[in-house]
Amino acid sequence: MLNRTKSIAAYKEALKYIPGGVNSPVRALKAVGENPLFIERAKGVILTDVDGNDYIDFCLSWGVFILGYAHSAVLRTVNQSIKLGTSYGIPTLQETELARRVNHFIPSMERVRFVNSGTEAVMSAIRLARGYTNRNLIVKFVGCYHGHVDHLLVGAGSGVTTLASALSAGVPDAFVAYTLCLPFNDKKAVDHLFSIHGKEIAAVIVEPVPANMGVVPSQNGFLHYLREVTLAYGALLIFDEVITGFRLTAGGAQQLFNITPDLTTVGKIVGGGFPAAAFGGRADIMQMLAPEGDVYQAGTLSGNPVAMSAGIKTLDLLSQQGVYDALNKKAGRFVEQLRKQLAGKGIVINAVGNMFTLFFTEGEVNNFEDVRQCDTVRFGSFFRYMLAHGVYLSPSQFEACFVSVAHTEKQLDRVASIAGNFNG
Ligand SMILES: *Cc1c(COP(=O)(O)O)cnc(C)c1O
Repeated sequence: MLNRTKSIAAYKEALKYIPGGVNSPVRALKAVGENPLFIERAKGVILTDVDGNDYIDFCLSWGVFILGYAHSAVLRTVNQSIKLGTSYGIPTLQETELARRVNHFIPSMERVRFVNSGTEAVMSAIRLARGYTNRNLIVKFVGCYHGHVDHLLVGAGSGVTTLASALSAGVPDAFVAYTLCLPFNDKKAVDHLFSIHGKEIAAVIVEPVPANMGVVPSQNGFLHYLREVTLAYGALLIFDEVITGFRLTAGGAQQLFNITPDLTTVGKIVGGGFPAAAFGGRADIMQMLAPEGDVYQAGTLSGNPVAMSAGIKTLDLLSQQGVYDALNKKAGRFVEQLRKQLAGKGIVINAVGNMFTLFFTEGEVNNFEDVRQCDTVRFGSFFRYMLAHGVYLSPSQFEACFVSVAHTEKQLDRVASIAGNFNG
């Protein structure tokens, strides 16, 4: 057993001042029946906790560190940037530098505005979509997560006429009254909804590869269908690529599927480890933002120069020839190894590119209903088993794990064989 005495003491102390001891709920590890880890440092893919235990990490700050933690070139750039002052609230060259790179990677983001979190990016994109279309309704899919914006914290309404209900206390019913929630991968449900409300729908927002219910790939041209139906009814299509942007391919999921959304949100990777995210899209839509248009959006620390410099360096490293091919090949091989090692154990592995989820179920996992069939208790015991053997997975059945550029084949081989010895 690893000694985690200091983490446990740190948790107790944190509980005195911070609700639940954490600043984002999943970190408390309640879903997997563990005490939270307190981290002292990280380098490459190795997390070191305050007790000095090392873990090979597959969560990587929820997908932020595609290059691994504390990449020396990124750190150098950030250190130089900090010496020049850390925020001015006045434009800098770095903002344009990063915006140009974002546009280069994801050409549909013709204009880009930076914000501080994925939540903010989504919130702003939706306000803009409503302002542009002069319509109110937003369509989202069950199991897709778009941050903790009030009006997107909704569960499923069964059938199109059923109003969605808020998933969180503190969200008035009226705030979710314009949000319609449909099952993912269900063209018929989308078709039916549009046939009734199509002309009132401002936008459809979707994770093009849902990763926040675990990885659930789209099927049978579902995303292409969303593009067609939104065009037909004059609604906007928003790809929430906060996870998939700069991760699946250089151009994100929209490049992988060859679909051009009207608006895109990115986050996580784009800040190079700092709190930055962005939304962007068609110039004529983005032009409606203040100060050019009358959709208001702002931020004191938006486009922060330190975050911008970390993002610039990260994207430059990712733009080198062959990075994504090598990463996805390595990840594919690892997932195959895991499948072999875990065969016959009641575990289904969904994977797209370098993201994967181990679902503790026998059946296929194509939507949130399927995910809900999973044995979360068994997932918890698998998580704890892996943790005890020095492997940190994303700590919930409903999350994605990530392979990074920094994972070595040797580490991946070792992790696959540890997983293979799980007997729970
Ligand atoms: C993480 C995430 C968000 C929210 O981003 P935050 O930076 O946590 O606010 C939104 N959408 C998707 C798809 C995400 O994965």
